This record gives sequence, C-alpha cells and structure tokens, in this order.
Amino acid sequence: MAKVFAIANQKGGVAKTTTCINLAASLVATRRRVLLIDLDPQGNATTGSGVDKLNLEHSIYDVLIGECSLVDAMQFSEHGGYQLLPANRDLTAAEVALLDLPAKEHRLREALAPVRENYDYILIDCPPSLSMLTINALVASDGVIIPMQCEYYALEGLTDLVNSIQRIGQALNPSLKIEGLLRTMYDPRSSLTNDVSEQLQAHFGDRLYETVIPRNVRLAEAPSHGMPALVYDKQSRGALAYLALASELSRRQRRGARSATVPASNA
Ligand code: ADP
Ligand code: MG
Repeated sequence: MAKVFAIANQKGGVAKTTTCINLAASLVATRRRVLLIDLDPQGNATTGSGVDKLNLEHSIYDVLIGECSLVDAMQFSEHGGYQLLPANRDLTAAEVALLDLPAKEHRLREALAPVRENYDYILIDCPPSLSMLTINALVASDGVIIPMQCEYYALEGLTDLVNSIQRIGQALNPSLKIEGLLRTMYDPRSSLTNDVSEQLQAHFGDRLYETVIPRNVRLAEAPSHGMPALVYDKQSRGALAYLALASELSRRQRRGARSATVPASNA
C-alpha cells in the first residue's frame, strides 16, 4: 500500500517541484513504484517530467471533477521512470468547480483509493497556497514533506504552515503527520543558514531530514530538458543529494514500520 506524501509549502520557489521530480526519480532508482501527482496549475512538475502540458488529453483537473478516471489521465515519464498525473492551467478552474461538488475536500483521496496498492510512494506537488487543491492533497496524504530555504522569513512562514496543517488534519484527516522538513538550496558557508538550521533542529528534532539539498545548477537546468538531475547529470551534487534523501526516507519508513509492530508489552 503506497505511502502518500504531499510536498507542500505556501511559499513559492522553495523547491517543492524540484523535490517532487528528483525524489520520485531517486525512489524509482531504488526500485520503488512511484506515482507523481502534479496539483499545481503552473504544471511545472508535468513539464519537468518531459510531458507537454499544452497537449494533454486528460489532466488531474478531469480526475478531480469526475470527468475521467485517474488511470485514463496517467502518463509515463520516460526519463523519470515514474507514472505522472499531469496538470496545466485548466486546474485553476478547479477551485470554483470543486465548490459545487459533493465531498469537495476528499476528491483526490477518493480518486487515489483504487490505485494505492499499485505503488510504494505517491508524491503530490502542491501549489504555493493553502487553497482547496492543497486541502485535497492534505486530506489524501499520510504525511507532509516541507521543503524550505534556510532564510530568516522561512521560520515565520513555517509556523503558519504547521498550524494550518494541524488544523486541516484535525478537521479532515486526523492521521496526517508532518513527515519531514527538507532544507533546500542549502549553503553551509552562510551563517544565517546555520542559525536557521539550528533553530529548525531545536524545534523539529528528528523530523528535520539529515540530508540537505545543496544549491546546484544541474537541478535548475534539468527541468528544461524534461528530466530529473539523476538522468541529466547523475554525478551532480544535486542528483546525489536527492538519492540520499530517497534512502533516508526509506530508512525512516522501515524504522516506522518496525516500531509500529512492536508488541505493546515491549513498547
Ligand atoms: P516551487 O515548486 O516551490 O515553487 P521550484 O522547485 O520550482 O520551487 O524551484 C524554484 C526555482 O529554484 C527553480 O528555478 C528551480 O530550478 C530552482 N532550484 C530548486 N532547487 C534548487 C537547488 N537545490 N539548486 C539550484 N536551484 C534550485
Ligand atoms: Mg512548484
């Protein structure tokens, strides 16, 4: 049964999409079955996966409003090796269209239910807002992965984000967890980066991933070729960092599964 993770942060430009594409490809490289869902009308995860967002027969929008099944809209990312549920600007209409539909916050969760057992991981690339689309992602997910840059204002935004996730979780998806915080575009030479990093460590403890993603030009170049860094330049620091993140994520899953099966008397 797939673990479903929303990659979310209401800030734009923090590497949500970069993380989705490169983590998806890295999980595939370690033989996991992965579905990536583009839930941002900008369609960057779609383009970055090598799929033309202007020529989609079906997209996630059709799935959300019940026009087609998830399988009908799915496409294979050749370079990434994962299945993709693509998006484009049509998705901007979802915000309004969903309002009139029953179970409007649960549409994505319900659409995923029949395919969850076909995957090990389902990653959802969220738009940079706490919109109805992001709420659908949070309701459909087991956990949230929060990519962030270690800058001063990031901490402020983070408190709002964590509060919102908790509120939405309590109301609509009580088992939702903050799976992990990921430091992106990391520059260890900056003292601000180190200060913010320390505060994150103090606040979030082991929910902060040990793996950090360095600033690396290959990660920025790869999407214009429709491929993950792992294919564009597999020796690049960016590609290697996302491979390390995939291992850390899998290690945590295994640890989590073990501790969940410890008999109560030994716990
Ligand atoms: P978001 O989806 O949160 O808006 P993106 O993944 O689109 O953020 O990243 C924003 C910009 O930063 C993009 O141009 C992307 O290529 C670039 N970028 C992301 N991560 C890195 C990195 N580690 N090093 C260099 N550039 C990066
Ligand atoms: Mg994005």
